Amino acid sequence: MISLYLHIPFCRHKCNYCSFYSLTDFDKSEYIDAIIRCVQYFGKNSGENPLISDCRADTVYIGGGTPSVLPPKLIYRLFDAVYRNFEIEKNAEITVEANPESCDREFLSAVKGAGVNRLSLGVQSLDDGQLRAAGRIHTSAQAVEAVKLARNTGFDNISCDLIFGLPGQTERSFENSLKILTGLDIEHISCYNLQVERGTPLERSGVSVPGEQTQERMYFLACEFLAERGYVHYEISNYAKRGLESRHNSAYWTGKDYLGIGPAAHSKIRDMRCSFLPDIGRFCARRSFEFDRCERIDDPLFEKIMLSLRTKNGLDTALLKNSEKFISRLKDSGYAVAHDGILRLTDRGFYLSNSIIAELAAREC
Ligand code: SF4
Repeated sequence: MISLYLHIPFCRHKCNYCSFYSLTDFDKSEYIDAIIRCVQYFGKNSGENPLISDCRADTVYIGGGTPSVLPPKLIYRLFDAVYRNFEIEKNAEITVEANPESCDREFLSAVKGAGVNRLSLGVQSLDDGQLRAAGRIHTSAQAVEAVKLARNTGFDNISCDLIFGLPGQTERSFENSLKILTGLDIEHISCYNLQVERGTPLERSGVSVPGEQTQERMYFLACEFLAERGYVHYEISNYAKRGLESRHNSAYWTGKDYLGIGPAAHSKIRDMRCSFLPDIGRFCARRSFEFDRCERIDDPLFEKIMLSLRTKNGLDTALLKNSEKFISRLKDSGYAVAHDGILRLTDRGFYLSNSIIAELAAREC
């Protein structure tokens, strides 16, 4: 059983902070043709692909970029290829990402009709000044409208992304975004800390962002605010109503196999980590879809430590041989708890997870 990811690398406009692989100008139909060939290559009727023998998937995720820029005709073609070439489990989680400016009735009806049962909406903030500063092309009203439209179309599992640390953002305005989303009864909320990546327009502009301490307070504000409203903080950046954690993303963190299709998409199959180059022209010219890069995961313990401590499921302490004192220090300082042989990071620990994981890995790997 795998998790299947299809990458749609198109956006109407490039956000100021974005360092992902996405394009604003390319023939979408030509690209969907290539994606379909790739789906066929890996699919159950292929006979060509030696890596995936059992083409069953229990989660499907159409991400981007901005999948909501696709016209219904291309959405149907894409899903038709997926259903023809993979056995999709009956109760599979099927997610599509959308941005508010293109998440209209036509798009929602098309994806609903194609079997999508989870919508992930890139809201980022519900303050128009912050959205403009981030180079987003939608307003807060459009985001709220998109949620309402999605509800009317029958979506009962909606996730919204927020960013904290945006230019001009205060704790109060971040809390207001959380209030609006929880007021809309959103099932799943992701809160990402803004990273000012080198080479992005945001970095080049030199616009200042809230300081580290303010960002830290925003992180704890989200933890507390969402916990009070019944959301489970199940991964560093992710909060969900009980039972509505993202099954697709959880597959990444539990070491399950996943197949990523599209330029810049990554896969993990057995003990191999593979990817396609971020080059849409090259991808579209292909007739055969061997991965561009493949490397063996040569340190499974490091992998296990890194992934397990991201989530509330935690890490089996029996795997650790040299970290007794370090774990005691983590517990004494309130960064972790350990019960029944499982080490779990607390909210404070999640915030420092990079350094905690690096320290543990240095002791164990
Ligand atoms: S919508 Fe997402 S992928 Fe597209 S430019 Fe903005 S941040 Fe990047």
